[in-house]
Amino acid sequence: MSETNPYGFTTTILHNDRRRPVEQGSLHKPVHTSVAFGYGDARQLAAVFQGREPGFRYGRQGNPTVAALEDKISKMEDGVGTLCFATGMGAIGALFQALLKSGDHVVSSSFLFGNTNSLWQTVAGQGVAVDFVDATDAAKVEAALRPDTRIVFVETIANPRTQVADLARIGQLCRERGILYVVDNTMTTPWLFRPKAVGAGLVVNSLTKSIGGHGIALGGALTDTGLFDWSAYPNIAANFRKQVPANQGLAQLRAKALRDFGAALGPEAAHHIAVGAETLALRMERTCANALALARMLEADPRVAAVHYPGLASHPQHALVASLFRSGGSLLSFELVDAIDPFDYLNRLKLGIPASNLGDTRTLVIPVAHTIFFEMGAERRASMGIAESLIRVSVGIEDTEDLLADFRQALAS
Ligand SMILES: *Cc1c(COP(=O)(O)O)cnc(C)c1O
Repeated sequence: MSETNPYGFTTTILHNDRRRPVEQGSLHKPVHTSVAFGYGDARQLAAVFQGREPGFRYGRQGNPTVAALEDKISKMEDGVGTLCFATGMGAIGALFQALLKSGDHVVSSSFLFGNTNSLWQTVAGQGVAVDFVDATDAAKVEAALRPDTRIVFVETIANPRTQVADLARIGQLCRERGILYVVDNTMTTPWLFRPKAVGAGLVVNSLTKSIGGHGIALGGALTDTGLFDWSAYPNIAANFRKQVPANQGLAQLRAKALRDFGAALGPEAAHHIAVGAETLALRMERTCANALALARMLEADPRVAAVHYPGLASHPQHALVASLFRSGGSLLSFELVDAIDPFDYLNRLKLGIPASNLGDTRTLVIPVAHTIFFEMGAERRASMGIAESLIRVSVGIEDTEDLLADFRQALAS
């Protein structure tokens, strides 16, 4: 992975806790439920509070179980540090809470997870200007940049229509202009792709999805890749300028977002996510193979009007996907011909479960326009390429033949 770590992705995750002494040789980092941390020497407590010595103060700002997970995510993303949050949205919201000021400008991909879209609309009402652009075209991003642009925000594979941003060219632009490049890696996960490779300064992961992987815990993370020069970022407060430049971004995020807004990840959730993450690579291999098989089957069927999956040769950004990602991912979406009612189709599935999560071990299906993208209205949906009949499939790790047979029989009825 890196020069100091000779091991591969999964070996690193499995053995990372043992790199430091773990209580009683416990093979899993224990779940530390204590909110407070006692010090035998009151001067040491003061030193921890003043940042002169490492240590934990109060659970909202950090916890040993959460810290062990943060370290694993840093390894997965090849980053210099990670901050965990209660949810993925907590991590994305932290960008606004800690790094943006009234008068700043953000350029965001218009192909976004629905709640991120809503968050940027909220931010736009609070003094930060946000421009949404088609990020599959780096020229459109470039045209939107202004002298006061602080952040360019994109997703790797957009949820749910699977558009793939022009990741490397946008990274090049941000590097040339000294702009913070934030990449939401949730759909690819660090197993398929590391945004550091295209120059991202901060990486977002919703841990709720494939990293935790079992649909039993919410969580989010921001990883600093070490590529962004924080000394050039105008919104770092004097207090955090005292730190070495490499630490300034995460230090301000920890205090201004995590501490002041309080979306802390709980230790039990961190434990669930850490256990799930051990099998990330194994699950992704299975689920991506299932997704490709399902996408190919649906594409070949005349009762299916369109299939959106980055692993298909027909996908508009397929060449980019093949050059950047290990595979096409675990999520696809499709449109049935008009004669088939999408609700009836979903009700005929026996294995695909109508539910709104993704990255679970089970296959989950959802009629997008009527649920997760309902609130934004038909006009904005159309601008994001979301058909009213679009069905999103988060492909699970079921046996491939069972899954294909289920989606086939629902078409046949
Ligand atoms: C789910 C998701 C989020 C938000 O994560 P939560 O943990 O649900 O808050 C952010 N980005 C993408 C791409 C997602 O799929």
